[in-house]
Amino acid sequence: MANRVELSDIQQKELIAFRRRFHTYPELSYEERETARAVYEQLEVLGMEPEMMADTGVVAVLDSGRPGRTVMLRADTDALPVQEENTHAYRSQNDGVMHACGHDGHTAIMLSVARWLKESGALQQGRVLFVFQPAEELAGGAKAMIEAGLFETYKPDCCAGLHLWSLAPTGTILVTDGPFMASADQFEITVNGQGGHGGIPHEAKDPIVAAAQMVVALQSVVSRAMDPADSVVVTIGQISGGEAFNVIPDSVRFSGTVRTFQASAQDAVEDSIRRIVTGIAQAMGLDVDINYTRMTVPTVNDARYAGVVRQVVEESSTMTLGEPGFRTMAGEDMAYFLNECPGIYFFVGAGNEAVGAQYPHHHPCFEIDEAALPFGVELLCEFALRCTLD
Ligand SMILES: [Zn+2]
Ligand SMILES: [Zn+2]
Repeated sequence: MANRVELSDIQQKELIAFRRRFHTYPELSYEERETARAVYEQLEVLGMEPEMMADTGVVAVLDSGRPGRTVMLRADTDALPVQEENTHAYRSQNDGVMHACGHDGHTAIMLSVARWLKESGALQQGRVLFVFQPAEELAGGAKAMIEAGLFETYKPDCCAGLHLWSLAPTGTILVTDGPFMASADQFEITVNGQGGHGGIPHEAKDPIVAAAQMVVALQSVVSRAMDPADSVVVTIGQISGGEAFNVIPDSVRFSGTVRTFQASAQDAVEDSIRRIVTGIAQAMGLDVDINYTRMTVPTVNDARYAGVVRQVVEESSTMTLGEPGFRTMAGEDMAYFLNECPGIYFFVGAGNEAVGAQYPHHHPCFEIDEAALPFGVELLCEFALRCTLD
């Protein structure tokens, strides 16, 4: 099957105009009101009947009117609390807020996908469900939409989403079967001892020595408790306690993050951390509070749908597949949608030094190569056309 998605000059210009409009007026997670309004209005212009969901999320359906499968396409719409340092004409006009992850591009791509599918009449069967989700950066928007009944209401058979990726060149598409992005957990541990005189330690319960032992012992979670074939990270990024060189403090607090690619590993790491920390506290006669939060589950792709995207790339003369088996320890909210129905999340290379698109995501100089946007449109349109067929 040859790829048939080609944007007209007008559609290409509109795609870039959409992206720049969203870039100029970025909004933080759960505050995407103007963005949602713009998306809603555009979908209405296309003759769809959009619905607001989870406050600032937007959902719309394109129905072929014939039986077939329901394909869900997803874009995220939120920006980050970053002060933009770029100087181009469409730089952020909202102080301290920036589209520094590329979600402006995702939103624009989805609007173009909706327009192309609607105007081309190419959809032969089934339905396409467009989901614009809020608050990806806080890892909560997808869950909020699921709780608002997204899957019960629309019952998608499969789903697809993409991330523009400045660390791969434009034209390169990264598609991986199985685990693709990691779970991200956050833990905060407070060791409660009893303060006292630095010269009279036996009258105190020293939380610094206990915390130090915990930090060292937690390094053995990955090396001793996990399957060496699994990729797991335990990082402690913050520790604080004590004010003076000769005073034993009452408490010490430290916090960190855990990354895994398997739900079973995520469970096992949390159990190990709780056991080690509680055990050391008990052995040393102190109390400990453990606050463990799961921010996202691992993003796991279905091989069948990864195959569909790979095939579209292979049939294209302008895109190439990137490193096979590529994975990243970054976390992604799309994981929750992929937990509900099988699908694919993939990266669309958007790096190009010639246009200043060489900075990592979340950087104040972050930029994407706009030449990558039509690839995103083509991939999602083709995915929808192929996967709506029975
Ligand atoms: Zn991000
Ligand atoms: Zn992102």
